[in-house]
Amino acid sequence: MTDSKQIFENIRQHLEAGAISPTPANYEFWYRYVTGSDPELRVAVDAVMHTVGRVSTRAMHNIRRELYGASMPADLSVLIDQTQAQLKRMSHFVEETGGDAKDYSRTLRESSDSINAAADIDTQRALLADLVSATGAMIDKTERLEAQLAISGQEINILKQDLETARTESRTDPLTGLSNRKAFTSYLEAQAGRALADRKPLCLAFCDIDHFKQFNDTWGHRMGDEVLRLVGQSLEQLSHGVGYPARFGGEEFVIVLPGKTLQAAHDICEQIRDYISSRSVRAKNSNKEVGRITLSLGISQLRWNDTVDTLVERADMALYRAKATGRNRVVGEDELEAAAAPKATAHAA
Ligand code: GH3
Ligand code: MG
Ligand code: MG
Repeated sequence: MTDSKQIFENIRQHLEAGAISPTPANYEFWYRYVTGSDPELRVAVDAVMHTVGRVSTRAMHNIRRELYGASMPADLSVLIDQTQAQLKRMSHFVEETGGDAKDYSRTLRESSDSINAAADIDTQRALLADLVSATGAMIDKTERLEAQLAISGQEINILKQDLETARTESRTDPLTGLSNRKAFTSYLEAQAGRALADRKPLCLAFCDIDHFKQFNDTWGHRMGDEVLRLVGQSLEQLSHGVGYPARFGGEEFVIVLPGKTLQAAHDICEQIRDYISSRSVRAKNSNKEVGRITLSLGISQLRWNDTVDTLVERADMALYRAKATGRNRVVGEDELEAAAAPKATAHAA
């Protein structure tokens, strides 16, 4: 066994015999004893061993007090206390931040190996001083890293919010707050795919405000904007839970009605038409009635070979018929087919 190993084995035996916990301070006490670096301590310990046979924690405490007064000498013990305190803070930070402690771990490992191998107290003192400074540096680094992380975290949150706002804005019509045509198209594409896969019906209603140009000409564009907002809100409320409304453009709106047959969609659109036509529109400042607003609506039902464009096209054709047959009407595409079929006459053979 090398000298230093012998020393540490000896210390370990003394600690064990006295049921003394192996703290650095207690270790140092026995290091002084075993190496004979503190003759007075040696005499005191030998005296206790001679009379009692072993040195307990209490006996150690008495010897310390007798030799050094209330406090330990301010050299190695101070370093040891510092190291312990730093290590505690260190492990706390590493735990809290999950920071990269690789370099520090290596220093710790190397220091602990060297301390075990160091035979004299000066070398140990130097190693502990190194350890304290490495620990201090690690704590500084970790604290800086923690602060940087907190700042980066805030910046990332702001960026995320900005991105979310931009995403919402890119899909929303600014005047009515409804989904815009782009959002409508992607929603309809997804819903149409699902409806075909599940073999469920899906309808599309195309709505257009009647004689809106004339309204604008009479009441002004700003009042026209108010009407667009009002129609948007009404569509939002009336299709809540049954359909997805969007502003297609200008004074045209669409409603996607997943799971609805042409007849069910017709009923929903009829309620919408009736509601809008029965509301009186008043000027905000004068509260004067500015007339009634009516909607014409055309409905198409999804077919297996439809694209978004063909479905919209057929709803638009039904809408055209609603306009042509008097406006303020709902027309399903079945009405177009019925109108196009050759009429049976009383004289048919
Ligand atoms: P129809 O019954 O045949 O649909 O007649 P209409 O006058 O409603 O149709 P037309 O296509 O001739 O005119 C649409 C009008 O919608 C013209 C345009 O000034 C108005 N419009 C489109 N977008 C807006 C908008 O954002 N605000 C306002 N105030 N008016 C708009
Ligand atoms: Mg129009
Ligand atoms: Mg119109």
